[in-house]
Amino acid sequence: MNALTIRRDPRPFIDGVPPLSPLGWGMWRFKGDDVAAARALADAALEIGITLFDTADIYGADTPAGFGSAEALFGRVLAAAPHLRDRIILATKGGIIPGIPYVSRGDYLIRACEASLKRLNTDIIDLYQIHRPDLLAHQAEVAAALDRLRRDGKIRAAGVSNHTPAQVAALQAHLPFKLVSIQPEFSAAAPFTLFDGVMDQAMERGLVVLAWSPLGGGRLLGAGDGARMQATIAQLDRIAGSQGVSRAAVAYAWVMAHPAAPIPLIGSQNPQRVRDAGEALTVTLTDADWYAVLQASMGAPLP
Ligand code: NAP
Repeated sequence: MNALTIRRDPRPFIDGVPPLSPLGWGMWRFKGDDVAAARALADAALEIGITLFDTADIYGADTPAGFGSAEALFGRVLAAAPHLRDRIILATKGGIIPGIPYVSRGDYLIRACEASLKRLNTDIIDLYQIHRPDLLAHQAEVAAALDRLRRDGKIRAAGVSNHTPAQVAALQAHLPFKLVSIQPEFSAAAPFTLFDGVMDQAMERGLVVLAWSPLGGGRLLGAGDGARMQATIAQLDRIAGSQGVSRAAVAYAWVMAHPAAPIPLIGSQNPQRVRDAGEALTVTLTDADWYAVLQASMGAPLP
């Protein structure tokens, strides 16, 4: 049985930033006012070799501190430890406004990105991502804003999140430079991008895949709600048991074993769990293991 290739080494990504780590750390759930605790999380990620730090202007909007607060908290970490900035790839996103819900028109993205720069206490964002497609924005307009941001030195590179392959192609058609990444949901709990063209397009165009909610938002770590989730967890546990690693490590490795080499965005806000995620780099999966997890998740054998 073949062992699947799991990329364990950093790879070149964007000019002028550190190489891209095989795992990333995400700040969707990053909140609070404790800069030391926030720094401990960043240190845990750095300790296991993570260079990619992913946030968004909307993160924290559901907390009392509100819209922008996750970026602002990370900005305080960077202000207290400016040397960290050169060690990381700083990725953020704009384009969601609660209540609308999506805006990428006119000068909005420019203003949103400038606000992110201020909150993050940095003069350049390494990877600026359109968080969700604004169905009312012509892709030429989105492209013009991204081009302007890049020409003005406010962003190094651009990517998208939650876009269909056709939306990626339409945006790319108007851009004078290459998009570098996509950010879809992808996990053993949510394997849909395998079948909707998203992964295929990433391989066609050489886009880096940043996989959001690689543990299904934590659902893969519970007891499993429903027969399919329980069967998926049973497969993850079987593999974990045979290799003496955690279920979470196998779940991350399952994401990484896809030939597009997706980067799981670890969502934990517990420093020890972030450190433990490094175990994913030791997991070996065979083709049969990988398909067993997928078929359990789908609830039916592949034809
Ligand atoms: P996840 O890794 O699938 O889930 C993390 C959740 O699982 C946390 O609540 C964590 O709790 C919990 N968990 C339970 N046991 C765990 C264990 N043993 N190890 C690790 N975590 C465990 O990811 P996510 O937070 O849903 O999303 C990850 C990142 O993806 C986000 O931060 C964001 O960067 C990105 N994202 C992007 C989008 C988008 O639309 N582009 C949407 C969602 C997420 P503890 O914190 O207590 O460990």
